[in-house]
Amino acid sequence: MEHYDAAYGDELVSLDRRHIWHPYASTEGEAPLFPVVGAEGVRLRLADGRELIDGMSSWWAAIHGYNHPVLNAAAHAQVDTMAHVMFGGLTHPPAVRLARRLVEITPEPLAKVFFADSGSVAVEVALKMALQYQRGRGRPERTRLLTVRGGYHGDTFGAMSVCDPVGGMHHLFSDVLPTHLFAPIPPAGFETELRPEDTAPIEELLDRHDSTIAALILEPIVQGAGGMRFHSPAYLRRIRELCSQHHVLLIADEIATGFGRTGELFACEHAGVAPDIMCLGKALTGGYLTMAATLCTDEVAATISRGEGGAFMHGPTFMANPLAAAIASASVDLLLSTPWRDRVGTLSETLRTGLAPARDLPGVLDVRVLGAIGVIELATPVDMATMQPAFVEQGVWIRPFGRLVYTMPPYVITPEELTKVTTAMIDAVRTHTAPAT
Ligand code: PLP
Repeated sequence: MEHYDAAYGDELVSLDRRHIWHPYASTEGEAPLFPVVGAEGVRLRLADGRELIDGMSSWWAAIHGYNHPVLNAAAHAQVDTMAHVMFGGLTHPPAVRLARRLVEITPEPLAKVFFADSGSVAVEVALKMALQYQRGRGRPERTRLLTVRGGYHGDTFGAMSVCDPVGGMHHLFSDVLPTHLFAPIPPAGFETELRPEDTAPIEELLDRHDSTIAALILEPIVQGAGGMRFHSPAYLRRIRELCSQHHVLLIADEIATGFGRTGELFACEHAGVAPDIMCLGKALTGGYLTMAATLCTDEVAATISRGEGGAFMHGPTFMANPLAAAIASASVDLLLSTPWRDRVGTLSETLRTGLAPARDLPGVLDVRVLGAIGVIELATPVDMATMQPAFVEQGVWIRPFGRLVYTMPPYVITPEELTKVTTAMIDAVRTHTAPAT
């Protein structure tokens, strides 16, 4: 058993700095880095013994918290049976069970499941499906994608090409990315009434270009990493109508919103709509392993399968990994066997109350809550070098980005624990916006 202490932690950090890249990071400089040696429930344990209440669910995936006995048991049982087997020409119980379950719980006409390795790959798969579908129905000229600004769909090339063209660092690759069509950011607010002018630009783009558009992709109801913005079910319903009218497939990227995060099991349900293709990831395995899925309708699958080549052209080595699939099934069953809707509702209330004082702070542009998502939007970007350690000092794990200080906690967090998180967020924002002395 390894012995953990502050010195061990320092050694880990120093070795890490020598050899490892971190997400969206430079290998130069000394960005704050904290060694985690264990995690249990909603707590992360640092090498020096400190414990942090997790407000991030490990980038929105660990909805049941860490080290969950049910998910651990599923992992142990499967690893002792078969950790992996190729998926070409073979199938296995974890894949079949999970696919059935996903089809059961997602909106109605979605019937076929393609397992992918990560959210970004699930998006690549969705885009390829849309292109092959259009070829399959004799419309090979429909190669463009339509999306909205402010979106985030992942870091691979196809996914990047439909991310917000200005935000993030994807502009670094703009010379080699295909150019797609972008409509304005959806009108802000879950409860905002839809006005005809809100969808006029998208209607114009569709009227002008539909003969070359394969699909419209968006994150339903919540744009996540592109800005943590919410839009209304009415907007999404109108988008669905427009796509159907123009024979453009609707791809719902539910990688961040799926599995209850917004208060419905899938965000599309707020609007009562079904996409033609849906991407799932993140919370699919309860945050245990990397696995994603792209679901499509029978019509999409059949059109691709009867089209040129007679097959869908994608097939990763670790497709439908049995270990990940077994844990994913256990995670979905666990979610559905718990009062998740009530829990998310309670978290929503706690977030509303806890974050309300931020509205009165200078430099705060907006405070918004939907489901188990709480966001403070600032006028200026946060200084991570000071804000990140300040959160750790307060015993919570929050990782802001840009002008956003937000939380997406595990659903098992108690209101008291979540209040500690929101209090730390308010304190951090107050310090951030305090006039320099
Ligand atoms: N789509 C959405 C909506 C996301 O939020 C993310 C990740 O944040 C992705 C796709 C990419 O997923 P991954 O990081 O697993 O590749």
